[in-house]
Amino acid sequence: MRLEHDFDFLCNGCGRREAIGRPFVCPDCGEPMSLRSHAPFTDIEMRQAPRSMWDYFRLLPIERSDHVVTLGEGATPLVRAPRLAARYGLGEVRVKNEMANPTGSFKDRQVSVGITHAVETGCDTVAVVSSGNVGVATAAYAARAGLRAVLFMHGQAGAGKIAQAAAHGATVLRIDTPAPSEAFRLCLEACEKWGWAHLSTAGMYEPWNVEGAKTIAYELWQQYNCELPEWVVAPVGGGGLLGGIWRGFLDLVRLGLIEKPPRLAGMQAAGCAPFVRAVEEGTPFLETLKHPWPNPKTIAGGIADDIIFDGHTVLPAVRTTNGAAIAVDDPAIMEGAHILARDEGLLCELTCAGVIPALAHLPGADKNTRACCVVTGNGLKEMDYYRKLVPEPVRIPPTLEAVEEALGRA
Ligand SMILES: [Zn+2]
Repeated sequence: MRLEHDFDFLCNGCGRREAIGRPFVCPDCGEPMSLRSHAPFTDIEMRQAPRSMWDYFRLLPIERSDHVVTLGEGATPLVRAPRLAARYGLGEVRVKNEMANPTGSFKDRQVSVGITHAVETGCDTVAVVSSGNVGVATAAYAARAGLRAVLFMHGQAGAGKIAQAAAHGATVLRIDTPAPSEAFRLCLEACEKWGWAHLSTAGMYEPWNVEGAKTIAYELWQQYNCELPEWVVAPVGGGGLLGGIWRGFLDLVRLGLIEKPPRLAGMQAAGCAPFVRAVEEGTPFLETLKHPWPNPKTIAGGIADDIIFDGHTVLPAVRTTNGAAIAVDDPAIMEGAHILARDEGLLCELTCAGVIPALAHLPGADKNTRACCVVTGNGLKEMDYYRKLVPEPVRIPPTLEAVEEALGRA
């Protein structure tokens, strides 16, 4: 079998390796283990611009390519952002535009792999805990695969995303709790009881479900023409995104393409920052699980995870790359969304907008520093928010004089 040949489990905590199987908890230190690829991949293949992330099929833990459930995810643009660079006094800023994925967020990468794995294990129903984007992606990819989707949406989920998910025919359950960890417990119990595949993008529950994020690292290497920037900045909720990008860079190290990963910065909202707290206090991953953030309160609902579900990867991602954990308050998050929209023409959701003001807090950065911001979700999902902010259009009669007068007024 391909998987057993090309992958094993690696404990990021103590380095123990195990053959693929269950359970995937390290027998030595108790941390969840991550999938690791041993598949060959040549530098020539890696240099080619991918048509979708599935051009990296051999580096993804799936048995057969004809099982892949895809909507063309990945291969997203890397956009230069010179006004951001000038504003924050950096040498160069580029934006990895994950909003260009099929359902408008990077979660499409994760769910495409997770649901393909569910198909390979013979499940007919998938279930997921979500603040929005994972639920939307799960609904869309389940529709694509002809599977039933049951979504456990917790208190942070916005109405627009719930409607987007329901439009794909998913069963949407609104769980009456602000704590994602509570919704996880319920979803896990349901999956256990009815034999559903658990698609939540938390590697501690299902290592397959966070593999898709690795491909962002591969694409960056290709798009930067092998010259990666000093910093990659990404939002952290559970941590599967930045932890996955880190493991993608480690694949590039294994393949001999880079010497070491770039410095990785994780941005959290100040109103729910268990990751920032853990980095500052040097807390080991398993210890962080005992202390959920007591009262998540932020406008960035998509990253308001009260525990670091993927702390076993995102903590070493920052600790081993001389990286940073940056807390950004809600006013700065909102300002970041507006700056990105007005300066660079990209409308993102508030969940990820904190990566923009985080550029002001990269340790040691100066006018020669190059940084990449991963912008993960599309602002079109949050038009209720933007509608409240922008002025009403000026009503005028259809004459040039009225246009002139209106412009003068503006
Ligand atoms: Zn271990």
